Amino acid sequence: MSTLLNSPIVRAALKQAWQDSQPGDAGGHEEGGFVLRDSVGNMSVVRWTRGEQDGIMLPPHAGCKIGRFDIVASFHTHPNIGGDYLQEPGETDRRAVRDDPDLKGRLYEGEFVVSHEIIYRIAPNGQVSAEGNTREILEEGV
Ligand SMILES: [Zn+2]
Repeated sequence: MSTLLNSPIVRAALKQAWQDSQPGDAGGHEEGGFVLRDSVGNMSVVRWTRGEQDGIMLPPHAGCKIGRFDIVASFHTHPNIGGDYLQEPGETDRRAVRDDPDLKGRLYEGEFVVSHEIIYRIAPNGQVSAEGNTREILEEGV
């Protein structure tokens, strides 16, 4: 599991995003954001703005940075918990990470995708891995 998921700040942010996306059978809406790190290692989180319908607007992040902060991870939710909905990151999700030249910073670990059961991580090269059980990771964060 990525050590970032041990950070109370990251866990709290993922949990908040999950709750804000109003998970349910009807679908809710995706929420997401960036995890940032300053030069001495302090972490912070900036959430993305909700776009039209299901789209999320990513703020500009040239050079894998927001201002003087390094982006160390990104995340978004898959709030549709219906049985026939694909929980894991799909091809579009993987491409969005893999093909974004501004998500290739030295410290960038990839994009976490919070689904009902599992938190996945899309590595910068587009490969998907399961990081752990959503409930365990988010509940231990409080
Ligand atoms: Zn997605």
